[in-house]
Amino acid sequence: MNLEDVKVVKTLLTEPKEIVIIPHKNPDGDAMGSCLGLYHFLVNSGHHARVIAPNDYPKFLKWLPGNESVIIFEKDEKKAVRHLKKAEIIFTLDFNHFDRTGQMKSHLESATTDFVMIDHHQEPQEYARVTYSDTNMSSTCEMVFNFLEVLGAADQISEDIANCLYTGIMTDTGSFKYASTTSRTHQVVAKLIDCGAQNTEIHRRIYDNNSPDRLRLLGRALKNMVILEKFRTAYITLEQHELDEHNFKKGDTEGFVNYGLTLEGIHFAAIFIENREEGIIKISFRSVGDFSVNEFARSHFNGGGHTNAAGGRSEDDMKGTIAYFESLLKGYELNLNA
Ligand code: 5GP
Ligand code: MN
Repeated sequence: MNLEDVKVVKTLLTEPKEIVIIPHKNPDGDAMGSCLGLYHFLVNSGHHARVIAPNDYPKFLKWLPGNESVIIFEKDEKKAVRHLKKAEIIFTLDFNHFDRTGQMKSHLESATTDFVMIDHHQEPQEYARVTYSDTNMSSTCEMVFNFLEVLGAADQISEDIANCLYTGIMTDTGSFKYASTTSRTHQVVAKLIDCGAQNTEIHRRIYDNNSPDRLRLLGRALKNMVILEKFRTAYITLEQHELDEHNFKKGDTEGFVNYGLTLEGIHFAAIFIENREEGIIKISFRSVGDFSVNEFARSHFNGGGHTNAAGGRSEDDMKGTIAYFESLLKGYELNLNA
């Protein structure tokens, strides 16, 4: 963030304001952690703040402090629109394109409010009065920490804020193992623990909360895995009937895609999950090294994300989607074997 932007934000926040904070659709730990971390800070500073999520998020995030105050747009549109209408500032966190907000998109496009974007994805859209965008950052939560620091508010990080921000840094770095994890990330995390973040407890709440159904669904996913050694690629499919047989709940497939990368020599992993209700196959991509799944998802599956973690969608059925995916790999054979 440059000094000019810091000044603008400080001016915007001088008086108590009506503020809305928005994560991307299908919010993950970083999206909810950053929104709720910022929420606690703003409320503690005397503002009227609300987090409005485009749609619901998994149970393993529902313990986050402030969870009960979150408005889910898809469930409570009237209330959400009321808050959006009176908002004087809208923070958009962990995304950089209105397309990522589902049904909220048109409301955001027509808003004349000042937007503040804090985000670490590539190619930000220009909609914000203040854009704090840095693709080198491990997580939006780490950026919210920086944001509070430049506002001179590092000493106002409460236990609740620390727990929220720790959660997003932990989930977006794969528990501090991805290449985006820097010494600065560890310094931030150390400070958050000093502010009261319960690191062991957070890890347990996020990762050690399997239902028997979810664990068995993972078993099915691993059985379905196809390994294409020639392309250093492994992919998983899950069809709607398989999800139904395991009483699928939102969030149950979180992290499954990463198993492909635990295979020796595999550099590219994907998971294809049928969503009959939306009539799409939702896809997640992961890679290690230089192969950009962001570009792959953008070019072929109407998606995007980061170099090593991205997502997209297909409107074809599973068979057609997989055939298309496999047909694309030939063109990437050299990159994948580099
Ligand atoms: P995941 O596979 O965990 O859903 O997402 C991985 C990364 O890709 C996240 O940073 C997420 O925001 C991004 N991403 C996932 N799906 C989409 C999509 O459909 N479009 C775009 N632009 N980004 C996505
Ligand atoms: Mn993130």
